[in-house]
Amino acid sequence: MTQSPLAAQIVDTLKHRIGKDERAAHPHDWLAATILTLRNDIIDRWMESTRAAHAAGAKRVYYLSLEFLIGRLLRDALANLGRDSEVRDALEELGIELAAIEAIEPDAALGNGGLGRLAACFMESLASLDLPAYGYGIRYVNGMFRQRIDDGWQVELPETWLAHGNPWEFERRESAYLVGFGGEVVSEDGGRVHWKPAEGLEAMAVDTPVVGWRGRRVNTLRLWTARAFDPIRLDRFNAGDHQGALAGQVAAETLVRVLYPADSTPAGQELRLRQEYFFSSASIQDIVRRHMQYFGDITTLPEKAAIQLNDTHPAVAVAELMRLLVDHHDVAFDEAWDIARATFGYTNHTLLPEALESWPLPLFERLLPRHMQLVYAINAKLLKEARETPGIDDRAITAISLIDEGGERRVRMANLAFAGAHSINGVAALHTELMKKTVFADLHRLYPDRINNKTNGITPRRWLHECNPGLTALIADGIGPAFKDDAAKLSRLAPLADDPSFRERFAAVKRANKVALADHIRAETGLSLDPDALFDVQVKRIHEYKRQLLNLLETVALYDQIRSHPERDWVPRVKLFAGKAAPSYWNAKLIIKLANDIARRINGDPAVQGLLKVAFLPNYNVSLAERIMPAADLSEQISTAGMEASGTGNMKLALNGALTIGTLDGANIEIKDRVGDENIVIFGLTADQVAERARNYHPREMIERCPALAQALSAIASGVFSPDDPGRYAGLVGELYDHDRFFLAADFESYAAAQREVDRRWRDPAGWGAAAIRNVAGMGWFSSDRTIREYARDIWHVA
Ligand SMILES: *Cc1c(COP(=O)(O)O)cnc(C)c1O
Repeated sequence: MTQSPLAAQIVDTLKHRIGKDERAAHPHDWLAATILTLRNDIIDRWMESTRAAHAAGAKRVYYLSLEFLIGRLLRDALANLGRDSEVRDALEELGIELAAIEAIEPDAALGNGGLGRLAACFMESLASLDLPAYGYGIRYVNGMFRQRIDDGWQVELPETWLAHGNPWEFERRESAYLVGFGGEVVSEDGGRVHWKPAEGLEAMAVDTPVVGWRGRRVNTLRLWTARAFDPIRLDRFNAGDHQGALAGQVAAETLVRVLYPADSTPAGQELRLRQEYFFSSASIQDIVRRHMQYFGDITTLPEKAAIQLNDTHPAVAVAELMRLLVDHHDVAFDEAWDIARATFGYTNHTLLPEALESWPLPLFERLLPRHMQLVYAINAKLLKEARETPGIDDRAITAISLIDEGGERRVRMANLAFAGAHSINGVAALHTELMKKTVFADLHRLYPDRINNKTNGITPRRWLHECNPGLTALIADGIGPAFKDDAAKLSRLAPLADDPSFRERFAAVKRANKVALADHIRAETGLSLDPDALFDVQVKRIHEYKRQLLNLLETVALYDQIRSHPERDWVPRVKLFAGKAAPSYWNAKLIIKLANDIARRINGDPAVQGLLKVAFLPNYNVSLAERIMPAADLSEQISTAGMEASGTGNMKLALNGALTIGTLDGANIEIKDRVGDENIVIFGLTADQVAERARNYHPREMIERCPALAQALSAIASGVFSPDDPGRYAGLVGELYDHDRFFLAADFESYAAAQREVDRRWRDPAGWGAAAIRNVAGMGWFSSDRTIREYARDIWHVA
């Protein structure tokens, strides 16, 4: 039998690039050989994309993000290049199963959650829409921690995603920049100012190609790694100080070691500020270098570069660009400020006060003395403008200032990002409106044209085509394949909701996906699940505002009801939870333990056998999400209204045919508008009602008036689910009586009623199936292609 050319190429790569004989190769060797072979095709397109952008003098988009939660890349690249069946066949000739090697590709977990995943979806959409773009971030050696569950508790382990090397990446030793810290600012003759850092390290670019849909374009994800100038100080080494001789290299390696594992509490750590400056500085230097090389005139930067700040983590880039313009390119301060503002856009991701980044002024000044001067100069200009604006009083001036003077003085990164950008966007309609009314009320009064909305999206390639091939094939069969190029065409599916035979096929796809997930869960945790039960999923970071605890309280109340009334016609349910808690966030970790304690008790109770199961799946990441989304029937999006900026998990689930049970929060509101009020289950206080209630809220009274809630709380508090440590949850639930910050008591009854409404709908399979199909049909608008088109048109001004 003759080998196909592709199979021969893979074998050749295995031999000459990996140095392995076919007979001795391990699965990881086959994976690397496959990626390296495919990469040749990608490189050709990559260079073509870069050449074309250069030749056209095109404006480039730069997306700065401390997180890129990209997940696995092989499946994505194969699907986008349209080469999956070809590669599958070639590997089969060699006795290798493509799915098996895909499954051992490490999940690049360079992000915490939604914010990092958004950056990854945006990169894919930018390439799919043929827009020249670079993503800039950090190449964390360990990234986000890997979560193990030990006796119900979260344990954090390092993620060793680079253990087998990374065949996707290219080191760019020539693209390296000095990044300094500390030292002093000196004035030269002629008034020029110069920063002399006390320490410094080198940022080196490591590039990963990002392949767009149909291989239309390949963009670059440029992640910075750090190294010392002198890998070893021989003077010290020879003097006997062997460890001191390596201190510079150790410091560099520490900087890029881990992603600070928090998405909504200020790190409060010098290392985090160092990471932020390190990647911002390297990125801005790279952007300015490229601009000068291509165009030779720094004043045209805004015409050729649009820099988007993903949250405030890269906000120091505003000061860094000012430093380069003023100190290195001799641009006058006012002109430099105009250039910076025309170049930057800023995306806000949270309104939670504790999540708004600010740095102690002494720390900022010690690490970045020149930037501190520039921040003061920017602030002087900003406050002068504010003073001259009618209606801005002293209180507003205090709120607008880049320096927080209430207590210990701090530099407000959100204000710096706002002041330094021509566009400030929220990520869902409600969030954008709340931004105008709360955090940025005064800055908005000063600059009323800057805040705009760009509702988040998700890439339908990964979150439908790749993760749910069964549904994708069914949709193509029902409405033709055009939806693959334009997700808005999913709307053509709506009439098929009324077609019983289509509904049956849709139900069969969902059931097959549930069987696959149940198999995976049995293999991973030993738990058996009934694929005919309602799969009710809440998968996302564990955080009090996301209210996993509300779901658990309702689970306990349901458990009580089933035991009290076993004769009733209960809908069999499986409650699935997954998510990581920030390691320093005690309550979140306790909620994970509670979920596991509740699961152990309920799953072992014969009284509810076949009716209720609870599972906590460890290590939620992109690859696990890709398994869960296609198998979900019900999507829990139950954050306290006004607190979830957008959510994107809600979009992935609805796109895969889950019905949402949710509050009127974040993008849930827009999902409701698009899938139709009858195809979503809404409950709870609105954001306005929460704000109203906050002034006069007595959770104890609400709890006392709701026996189901009171009983669930007292069962948990008294140790029913934790007989080994009966007091474990006394504090967690006891606190709710007096300080129910997230309004669990206020929303419990409405939530429980909504769950019974879900049961009623589930008992009508035709009605449920039709609603699920209408969800899929309505979700095309949430493609990140639509979001990116809006950014391109309104913020970046690129065609
Ligand atoms: C989509 C996604 C998220 C965001 O989920 P939300 O429900 O919007 O918070 C977090 N983590 C992973 C792995 C995801 O894929």
